[in-house]
Amino acid sequence: MWIVFIGPPGAGKGTQCSRLVDTLGIPHLSTGDMLRNTERNSALGKLVESYIDVGRLAPDYLVMPIVTKRLFEPDCQLGCLFDGFPRTVHQAEQLDEFLAQRDSRIDVVLNLQVAADVLLERLLKRAELQNRKDDNEQTISARLEVFRTQTAPVLQHFRGQGNVVDIHGDQSPDRVFNDILAGLTGRK
Ligand code: ADP
Repeated sequence: MWIVFIGPPGAGKGTQCSRLVDTLGIPHLSTGDMLRNTERNSALGKLVESYIDVGRLAPDYLVMPIVTKRLFEPDCQLGCLFDGFPRTVHQAEQLDEFLAQRDSRIDVVLNLQVAADVLLERLLKRAELQNRKDDNEQTISARLEVFRTQTAPVLQHFRGQGNVVDIHGDQSPDRVFNDILAGLTGRK
């Protein structure tokens, strides 16, 4: 099963993704994690960092090769959970093309929705607890703005394919997870 998980920063994607991969036993492809894992001291790592640290999207020429390389690995032949990808309509179109070559398509797009004021509150709290460099007020508002302008259109792209399941994210993690499972089962 090919699943795309879309949600603004702070929506709780990370928590739900780890539960989902445990339950479904499919690989978790998080472009945020993959980009953060780029060797920090390399020229490439420094370039990636320069985007992440200000809350801007890394350019497609950096993101797409990382994703496609991962998709050629043996465990990713039949499906995976995309987390933080695709984040632009261009990435979505490239993913569609890639999967079409395998006679596949995205089965479900989970759209985790949380109101903007709740997101800001959650992210500022997370900034206090964890030490993520991109969780400061300025970068957070940049990331929310990028989501609104660049990633929200990805949802419209997939709505056209009729495979989006909207999930209400401002509930307890257990309830959100139940809704996700119900959304997935309803579509099987
Ligand atoms: P969040 O959803 O909280 O912003 P992520 O870990 O998904 O966290 O992403 C962190 C950062 O990594 C983004 O702000 C962006 O700079 C970069 N990034 C992640 N995925 C992509 C992608 N698909 N395309 C471009 N940049 C990305």
